[in-house]
Amino acid sequence: MTLQAQDLVPFGGVDADAAWAEEVRRLARERDAVLLAHNYQLPEIQEVADHTGDSLALSRIAAASDASTIVFCGVHFMAETAKILAPGKTVLIPDARAGCSLADSITGEQLRAWKAEHPGAVVVSYVNTTAEVKAETDICCTSSNAVDVVASIPADREVLFCPDQFLGAHVRRETGRENLHVWAGECHVHAGINGPELAERAAADPDADLFIHPECGCATSALYLAGEGAVPADKVKILSTGDMLKAARSTSARSVLVATEVGMLHQLRKAAPEIDFRAVNDRASCRYMKMITPAALLRALREGRDEVHVDADTAARARASVQRMIEIGQPGGGE
Ligand code: SF4
Repeated sequence: MTLQAQDLVPFGGVDADAAWAEEVRRLARERDAVLLAHNYQLPEIQEVADHTGDSLALSRIAAASDASTIVFCGVHFMAETAKILAPGKTVLIPDARAGCSLADSITGEQLRAWKAEHPGAVVVSYVNTTAEVKAETDICCTSSNAVDVVASIPADREVLFCPDQFLGAHVRRETGRENLHVWAGECHVHAGINGPELAERAAADPDADLFIHPECGCATSALYLAGEGAVPADKVKILSTGDMLKAARSTSARSVLVATEVGMLHQLRKAAPEIDFRAVNDRASCRYMKMITPAALLRALREGRDEVHVDADTAARARASVQRMIEIGQPGGGE
């Protein structure tokens, strides 16, 4: 179980200066390690990494890499997913206390009990889940292909969708499916981005595009507001983090309001420096993601910590549900 973020004290005392970056690169070479950083990481971690991206894109890079060690700068379930897809490699996370409130909102035991209440139902889980939950899942999904995954299931089969209630509501609305049961989980960061805040920001900047991640609590109200004409429908774009970068490169808007974790602004500003990107809620920062500090990364490379383990049976079952996800629609990248 993830510790409460406010109780966690990250490793500190190291400045992210040029000497630090050089030492990180040297140690990575010495360890034959590839450095992967999620889009929500601190800018200095994103800058020193070999690759930045969303959770699924990074796991695929991990599996395809020649390096024998993966250093995954993200939260624990992401490093576990990399280990599931690259079982022969050593996977390190710079601070194993970096959990995820969404992944923690359902355990393997809770999912087994839910399945027992709905025999024959197909379980669809968003990638923000532990390896144990993935092992109990029929098909994983990302925010990009969640609708396609559910649509691929015969209409008369019940579907159990977990753990994100906002993504579940989005899928139910898009598919019109009544036999879709949604687990009441949420991410404390995305749930903190709400409709009234979005409407206020949109009214203040009527020409701005709105990029909304479907795990945001505001996604439902954003579409509702668009339907009411309060926010121009063509301005609202529901996108995974990977698709946000593509949209940033192609939009003609001069300003964009972004409803997701604030770390994403770094990559968006790099992708399209001429656009004014602003957070809908600038308090939407994931403290778990920010546990991966310059000091934690140095510790990982010097001491080989914290190593991520997934037992072989759990990994094999989890891998099957992740592979089914990759086969359906355009999985994009997940969070
Ligand atoms: S932003 Fe939310 S869903 Fe993402 S890692 Fe943090 S707690 Fe988990």
